[in-house]
Amino acid sequence: MTKKPKEFSGGCLCGHIRFQATGKPTFPHLCSCRMCQTWSGAPTVAWVEFPLKNFSWTGPGGEPAKFKSSEKTQRGFCPNCGGSICAIDEGYDKISLTITTFDEPSVLVPGKQFSYRKSAPKWFIADINRSS
Ligand SMILES: [Zn+2]
Ligand SMILES: [Zn+2]
Repeated sequence: MTKKPKEFSGGCLCGHIRFQATGKPTFPHLCSCRMCQTWSGAPTVAWVEFPLKNFSWTGPGGEPAKFKSSEKTQRGFCPNCGGSICAIDEGYDKISLTITTFDEPSVLVPGKQFSYRKSAPKWFIADINRSS
């Protein structure tokens, strides 16, 4: 008996852009580089990767709008509500997705990697070291 692969789905605030991914999520991590901050409006972005071959856009809007944020990276967002959805690196066989746009963001847990931690606002760093 073969096990059905786990499915992950998500989308933007307005539902125009939706996606579905199957298979093993990789490299769940946080990033607080200034690009992630100004792109998302948040103190950090939680990212996770999925193989492009296991990934599809399923919403009425199809693919998100894209902004070229660096030489090889495009950042995808909803042209309707502005939701920050993904990053696609040229020539890379995976897509990076923002964990908080998944329908069940609690399932995808960032690992120890916290990129550009020093760029995060000081009040945010102080805050995440404190339990609620
Ligand atoms: Zn939207
Ligand atoms: Zn970043």
